[in-house]
Amino acid sequence: MRSEFLPFSTPTLEDAEINEVVDSLRSGWITTGPKVKRFEDAFRAYVGAPYAVPLSSATAGLHLTLLALGIKEGDEIITTPMTFASTASIPVLCGAKPVLVDIEPGTLNIDAGKIRAKITPKTRAIIPVHFAGQSCDLDPIFALAREFGLTVIEDAAHAAGAEYKGKRIGSFDSISIFSFHPNKNLTTGEGGMVCTPDETLAEEVSLLKFHGMSREAWKRFAASGTPNCDIVLPGFKYNMMDIQAAIGIHQLPKLDRFIDRRTEIAAFYNQALADVAELALPACGPYQQRHAWHLYTPLVRVELLDIDRDGFMAELKKLNIGTGLHYKAVHHHAWYREHLPQPAGSLPNADYASDRILSLPLFPKMTDEDARDVVEAVKDVIVKFKK
Ligand SMILES: *Cc1c(COP(=O)(O)O)cnc(C)c1O
Repeated sequence: MRSEFLPFSTPTLEDAEINEVVDSLRSGWITTGPKVKRFEDAFRAYVGAPYAVPLSSATAGLHLTLLALGIKEGDEIITTPMTFASTASIPVLCGAKPVLVDIEPGTLNIDAGKIRAKITPKTRAIIPVHFAGQSCDLDPIFALAREFGLTVIEDAAHAAGAEYKGKRIGSFDSISIFSFHPNKNLTTGEGGMVCTPDETLAEEVSLLKFHGMSREAWKRFAASGTPNCDIVLPGFKYNMMDIQAAIGIHQLPKLDRFIDRRTEIAAFYNQALADVAELALPACGPYQQRHAWHLYTPLVRVELLDIDRDGFMAELKKLNIGTGLHYKAVHHHAWYREHLPQPAGSLPNADYASDRILSLPLFPKMTDEDARDVVEAVKDVIVKFKK
């Protein structure tokens, strides 16, 4: 058993990030300013999006996107139950009803073939989530959106650097929302980005992110600016700070290297756990893609074991292996059970995954030995609790 605890994720922060943050602190300009602009430009160029709006989080991006689209009371938004709660909670907070569509059993992405049946005259948007960093099969989703006049908002929180049929996530004719939370493939501490080719939407999100102010503070206070500003609509306080962007500026050039290392570790897990009947390993969609491997999420086939998933995670912890839970399905959470109950058995694949899924350690700084320790611990727990 390993002597040191291995967390399920930890960010790779090196001297470049640290020095850039210190530079911001010493400069006297720590909030939204030139570094946010640099990060925005670099990220937009990397994903290939015409417009990118930096924000304090992906959740803020979802909120402002729905407001900018005019989502309101009575609207319906189609999404997946296998996601972080904010994907469904933000529609609720805008007065809309999240309509959950079941996932595919292998990729755990929304099952595009099951969306049509859930479209009603009230449907306004579809929010597919690129689960674990694997692109959803976007073509059928875009086709449905065109047929019914719906907006596609890609929850790309896991998918910085992912590609679908040779194009980066963030570059499609839709709206893509990225997260830079410390567990994600690229971090700014906390942060998010809305990417889109829709200039009007980008401008609206941009206005809403900072008090509805017509010009940004750093331009007002710069030597060439004037302190005057105008509030053109009531807005929020969702701007990204230069201290955050300072980290992102140095994370972005490493993103491809991070993903390559994640891919190596995922390939090792796939090979080392292939013959373990008690695990259902993550599957890849049949289309051409680049998986960003944000998470490695096997399902523990608890029906073959004398332990449940939570117990399995506790056993791994005793062996100094950390795990994550991504995710308990949205409709299994207390608020959703009460306010958005789903007919029993209507989301069978999400129900199955929700009770069995766990995230094994996966981050770029992991060594091959760390990955071997994980496999050994997983196999030890399975031997101990085999029926
Ligand atoms: C992390 C995450 C979010 C929220 O991102 P924040 O930047 O923390 O607001 C939304 N959706 C998914 C799928 C996520 O994993």
